[in-house]
Amino acid sequence: MHLPSALRLLSSVLLCAALASAALAKPNIVVIVADDYGYADVGFNGCTDIPTPHIDSLARNGARFSNGYVTHPYCSPSRAGLLSGRYQQRFGHEANPTYLPADTQVGLPVTETLLPKLLSEAGYVTGAVGKWHLGAAPCFHPNARGFTEFYGFLGGGHEYLPAANAPPADAPAWRTEYRAPLLRNAAPQPFDGYMTELISREAAAFVTRHKAEPFFLYVAYNAVHTPLQAPEKYLARLPNIADPRRRTYAAMTVAMDDGVGDVLAALRAGGIEKDTQVWFFSDNGGPATNAAPTCNAPLRGYKGSLYEGGIRVPFVLQWPAAVKPGTVIGTPVTTLDLFATALAVADAKPAPGNTPDGMSLLQLLKGDAPSFDNRALHWRDGGGKANKWAVREGRWKLLRSGTLAQPGPLELFDLDADIGETRNLAAVKSEIAARLQKLHDGWNAQLVEPLFQSPRPAKKKQPR
Ligand code: CA
Repeated sequence: MHLPSALRLLSSVLLCAALASAALAKPNIVVIVADDYGYADVGFNGCTDIPTPHIDSLARNGARFSNGYVTHPYCSPSRAGLLSGRYQQRFGHEANPTYLPADTQVGLPVTETLLPKLLSEAGYVTGAVGKWHLGAAPCFHPNARGFTEFYGFLGGGHEYLPAANAPPADAPAWRTEYRAPLLRNAAPQPFDGYMTELISREAAAFVTRHKAEPFFLYVAYNAVHTPLQAPEKYLARLPNIADPRRRTYAAMTVAMDDGVGDVLAALRAGGIEKDTQVWFFSDNGGPATNAAPTCNAPLRGYKGSLYEGGIRVPFVLQWPAAVKPGTVIGTPVTTLDLFATALAVADAKPAPGNTPDGMSLLQLLKGDAPSFDNRALHWRDGGGKANKWAVREGRWKLLRSGTLAQPGPLELFDLDADIGETRNLAAVKSEIAARLQKLHDGWNAQLVEPLFQSPRPAKKKQPR
């Protein structure tokens, strides 16, 4: 063989090997979760008074899911669904756990194997930054659930600025919770800045530290959950908002948006933005305005409700290697699908007995996924007897929104025609209502009753 042709052969072999290796490369996965962030408080959903250029850039450069859902209308169960990939009612995690560092019963059951553990078995470095809220006892600690690195706090919220006064010894649990120590893994850390900035700084540093290996980074801001607290430098950027509560909420949002920008800048500086999935969503809808000055328009309801305002959230994925800029997907999707997608791209396997409930979005992102057409999504809050549940299939949603004491009416909405859930069609479309009722009954029969209720400790022991 002539030398030039041998070289050509060699270079073509090397090229093929390089292409194969690129095709097999596992993307990094960054999941950024906002807390209690209103559906319409982001630019891509029509917000005009709060600038969110970095969160908007994710939608502009990637895919926006206009029917993107979480699995629960409030904090902890929503996160339990995300990280387990399963409806959290399957394993009794249907309430917020009280902050009880000595209680090994109140937290995400250890029978569930979480996404960081599965991704770590598939070769990923894993890190969690920010709010945990899945149990405060050592058995529930992020390091015990598959996150190699953790920086944050274990409760459901936190003061944003260092507290001048520690709570008294007999203070209620929530007061201790919001001033719980900031931790790096198990070690207490100084609390010496604005919480949102501390979380952003740690997230960006994780990206830089691990840019040369596949990583999974879970960034759980407590922003923009109450308490409403923001430094003057952020308030000063919002001179046009007159209402002081809205202005502070907006300042907290701007700080979080800056943080998303910091993470994106670290990805760019590391040369890894193209092969990194960056997901962003809120853990539930914005709370009612007497609790926080959020906006869910045009959706009905708030955090805690199974109307769209409680569960449909800003939901985006930027992934330049695989998703066309400006993609808009109207098919209903859920954070359970994020879990399934992450397993698919990482070539990771679910744990035996932990069958995931979601579907990989890879085909849907390419624009062709008929398997999603008749997929039903489910919600339930308060246990099987509470009569507070919803099911969505295609354009139709059936729900009961009452309480145990006062069951609400059965309501059927056509979400394609009536996003604000104003016209109850249960009587005129009774056949559709009956079909969806059957879907709910079938799903509900697979669930268990809640293992714990907030704010009470667990009633029965979890399996060990
Ligand atoms: Ca929340």
